[in-house]
Amino acid sequence: QTNGVEGKVVLITGASSGIGEAAARLLAKQGAEVMLGARRFERLESLTDEIRSAGGTAEYRKLDVTDPEDMEAFVNEAVEKFGRVDVIVNNAGVMPLSNLEERKIDEWNRMIDVNIRGVLHGIAAGLPVMQTQGGGQFVNVASIGAYEVTPTASVYCATKYAVRAISEGLRMETGRSIRVTLVSPGVTESELADSISDEHARAAMREYRRVALPAEAIAEAVAYAIAQPEGVDVNELTVRPAKDA
Ligand code: NDP
Repeated sequence: QTNGVEGKVVLITGASSGIGEAAARLLAKQGAEVMLGARRFERLESLTDEIRSAGGTAEYRKLDVTDPEDMEAFVNEAVEKFGRVDVIVNNAGVMPLSNLEERKIDEWNRMIDVNIRGVLHGIAAGLPVMQTQGGGQFVNVASIGAYEVTPTASVYCATKYAVRAISEGLRMETGRSIRVTLVSPGVTESELADSISDEHARAAMREYRRVALPAEAIAEAVAYAIAQPEGVDVNELTVRPAKDA
């Protein structure tokens, strides 16, 4: 009798901080073999050391999810190290909020590249491996912004609506062999708001973040979806702070 996570090979993008880091720690503690990816690999190195010191199994590789070849190399390295890929947690994301009239075109494109293309690259790299194995699971981290649009977040929400649409489509197309879970956090403690260059949006976010959930709360949702028995596909999990903002 296992806990449903033990022994699974779980790849996590954006594991260098926030939700990805918390998920790596929790899943490794529950016995998963974790493969960690992000650009700040020094952080991945120390997290990997920490997990190993606690008796867990972890590997890491520097990863930029906007590069499809890099994502493929990340998945290939997991296969080399662990022999298979059970779960890919497409978690990497950025959120430089601003009103559209600010015309921060580079930031719009950055969100599209990381939040949408990054997830697609994860699917492109992982799906063939999972299909060859005869099964697997994608856990795609969206947001409550995948369900509702708020001012300053038009593009961010658009990217998260896209992640939700892609996840839904992937589930329909791959039938029973591939499980697809969308995890949508409300405001959560992390470094996500650090990328906001717009003063107005930054100030609003500071207010909002007073009620933030700990990243561990979202990690628990990710672990729950992974832990379910083979025939159980948790489609969507939305997790918000209970207090009023
Ligand atoms: P963090 O900023 O703490 O973490 C984001 C992670 O994404 C970092 O590890 C970062 O690593 C990684 N990342 C960014 N760009 C790239 C890239 N090009 N290639 C690889 N990795 C990248 O924020 P969160 O933990 O909050 O964010 C995780 C996910 O949760 C995101 O998808 C976010 O949209 C979502 N989310 C968060 C909410 C919140 O309130 N915190 C609410 C709703 C959703 P590095 O910079 O080292 O590459």
